[in-house]
Amino acid sequence: MSPEDTKKVRRFLDAFAGDADPFLLLDYDGTLAPFRLDRYQARPWSGVRELLADIRRQGRTRIAVITGRPANEIAPLLGIGPPLEVWGLHGVDHLYPDGRRELEPAPPAAREKLDALRVLLKRDSLGGRFEDKENAAVMHWRGIAPHKARLIEQKTRALFEPLVSIPGLALLEFEAGVELRAGRDKGGAVEAILKEAGRAAPVAFLGDDLTDESAFCAVNSLGSPGLSVLVRHSPRETQANVWLRPPDELRQFLKAWFAACELRTEIPNQRTQNIEVIQK
Ligand SMILES: [Mg+2]
Repeated sequence: MSPEDTKKVRRFLDAFAGDADPFLLLDYDGTLAPFRLDRYQARPWSGVRELLADIRRQGRTRIAVITGRPANEIAPLLGIGPPLEVWGLHGVDHLYPDGRRELEPAPPAAREKLDALRVLLKRDSLGGRFEDKENAAVMHWRGIAPHKARLIEQKTRALFEPLVSIPGLALLEFEAGVELRAGRDKGGAVEAILKEAGRAAPVAFLGDDLTDESAFCAVNSLGSPGLSVLVRHSPRETQANVWLRPPDELRQFLKAWFAACELRTEIPNQRTQNIEVIQK
């Protein structure tokens, strides 16, 4: 992490001294876990599960995962018990730790178009990997040779793009695919979480993909202290405040978070000294 980014993280963690419990909002794939072509094998980077479990045990942080996956896929992969709160399908599928689930309904016209698209893409997936979500049709081309991927993208866009004129449908781009979907995005999920919480508190969101940019923007526009974090092996143009490389800098960040929460009840002038764990 650059010295400038380290300073921003330290300033953010200093805000934990206030009364409100901080929010730690996390994307899953590419952020907490490396990508796997078999998505059911995408386990967290070594040490990440334990660090999140420690933060949770402290009882001072509200943790939620905001992912493009269906919400119920996260608990078995993350392996933290009891399960964390998850906002799946980019925020449409809200799964509470007690198992309650709320699904944002799609407008009827959007549902109808998505149903027709499903039938079509199940028959012919255009050479890509079609993913059928409750609120969306998704085409993936991760791992496919570039020339073939370009063809899949062209065909998919020709099919998806005219449908964004249907009320309630929108196109969501990500790094190796595109999704035609209904419902809130990750920025909407961040706003919904904070509205529900109803008070100003430090909020961080960590994500890797283009779909995380709306959540970065939502965090950046908060009145309360916010930190938007791009987790990625190489930098790219982003709205995020800081960039960290997984997995080492991610583990350092989570350790620093834990330390900052511990210090909330200790002597304030020890805070900065202890947070120096982020630089090691
Ligand atoms: Mg991701």
